[in-house]
Amino acid sequence: MRPAGRVVATALAQMRKQAAVGVSTLELDEIARSVLADSGASSPFLYYQPSFAHTPFPAVICASVNDAALHGIPSRYRLADGDLVSLDFGATLNGWTADAAVSFTVGTPRPDDLRLIDAAERALAAGIAAAFPGSRIGDISAAIGAVARAARYGLHTDFGGHGVGHTMHESPSVPNDGKAGRGMKLPAGLVIAIEPWFMAGGKDSYVVDPDGWTLRSGDGSRAAHVEHTIAITTDGPQILTAL
Ligand code: MG
Repeated sequence: MRPAGRVVATALAQMRKQAAVGVSTLELDEIARSVLADSGASSPFLYYQPSFAHTPFPAVICASVNDAALHGIPSRYRLADGDLVSLDFGATLNGWTADAAVSFTVGTPRPDDLRLIDAAERALAAGIAAAFPGSRIGDISAAIGAVARAARYGLHTDFGGHGVGHTMHESPSVPNDGKAGRGMKLPAGLVIAIEPWFMAGGKDSYVVDPDGWTLRSGDGSRAAHVEHTIAITTDGPQILTAL
């Protein structure tokens, strides 16, 4: 699954490099499409239609800006100074899929946004550190939830991590909060995506736009979302979506 993960990491790095004030999120989607084409990979996002969505997803990336946390649809919206951008991207190569997300700011960052992104990244690292053979799903969930609560950020257990394999969303589900010691025992060889998303306002509720996709914080506060696909091995967790 590493080659698929490398495609994902490459595209996210290129989009992050190109994302600047005045660049549209549709232009970022085009960058991701060209990385897919150059690598002979396909998009598990394009035309994806899970049960909660009333239309197929129309792009290869999710671009969620400011109060949007997840599933933002790329558009002609041009990034503005100080925007907080979350990009989620997946790739399927030779029948295997990988999935990852990054959050960052463009232009002059707001200090509060940098703290929010830092907390999401620390939660992701804590979740990954808990992913050993013999530990349980709840250990990962509890590690993520503890970071959110310590920082007084809002979080929700809808739309968390998941197994990854031939398809993007497989069992088990890896919620962003839970109790240590509970849930499925993690076997060596399992590959999962871990993906904390936090809301700065501290409330745990979200709303979905009329487009049926874009998920925003319920209180209008900013949100951050980060994700890696990792393999659980006897040598410890291995990140498959890093360069
Ligand atoms: Mg995911």
